[in-house]
Amino acid sequence: MADFVALMGVKGGPAIRPGSHMPTSILVSLGGAVILVDAGLGASRGLCDQGVALTALDAVFVTHLHSDHYLELGPLLHTAWTAGLTREVPVYGPAGLERYWAGFLASMEADIALRIADEGRVPLEPLAALRPLGPDEVIRVGEVTVRAMRNVHPPLCDSFALRFEAGGRAIVLSGDTAYMPEMAAFAAGADLLVHEAMLVDGVDAVIANLGHEDARLRQHILRSHTAAADVGRVAAAAGVGHLAVNHFVPDGFPGFTDADWERELRRHWDGALTLGTDGVRIDL
Ligand SMILES: [Zn+2]
Ligand SMILES: [Zn+2]
Repeated sequence: MADFVALMGVKGGPAIRPGSHMPTSILVSLGGAVILVDAGLGASRGLCDQGVALTALDAVFVTHLHSDHYLELGPLLHTAWTAGLTREVPVYGPAGLERYWAGFLASMEADIALRIADEGRVPLEPLAALRPLGPDEVIRVGEVTVRAMRNVHPPLCDSFALRFEAGGRAIVLSGDTAYMPEMAAFAAGADLLVHEAMLVDGVDAVIANLGHEDARLRQHILRSHTAAADVGRVAAAAGVGHLAVNHFVPDGFPGFTDADWERELRRHWDGALTLGTDGVRIDL
């Protein structure tokens, strides 16, 4: 397959509503490897819409344990299994992901046992080879070299940006993160940087819409995500070939348009720019 990145869900946060995008999932097709990064709601549909069989996955990465990044991981792996997956798929993620996987398997035990006994399926549990994700390992997926950098996403400690390299190409995904100058070094010279972004003015609209008055939510959003102007700053400092933006906060709220995003992103970035939409494919 050609080298490309598809953003299959570009909404920041777990709630979906009429008019919103889907939560995070990203397809990285690089050096012949098919890699899924995050498995928010819609990941399975998103892969199929990209023409990628669920059985074709070579590896899955979960950047951190917020539900908008792994709520569909179990259903996706289960569906890959019923679609014919019989080989082991490495699943890299923070500590705690193994509890999710064990819990998912337990919740679906009746169905899984039935399909093994009644349909002759292979056991599902060993098809996901859970492996730790951290800044110290260099991970190889076929021809692709993957490095992780701890980003800034409090209160989580295990939250990671990822850099994928193969055949002289580099793709960097910021994950969920506050502005961090180190991201520019991590993304230096990448062909494509996919970075999360928020409009600070929009955060108040999100809070008001939720009717969720607790001040902690506003504080969480502001201290753990990156203002759009700073996203442009990172891209410029890194000298990337192309900036694509995802994990929009707010997303699907009236009153915030592409022009608002572009105005902020363009304060420091005048290079190639993609405002992500669900299903957008960026060829490398
Ligand atoms: Zn998120
Ligand atoms: Zn998060």
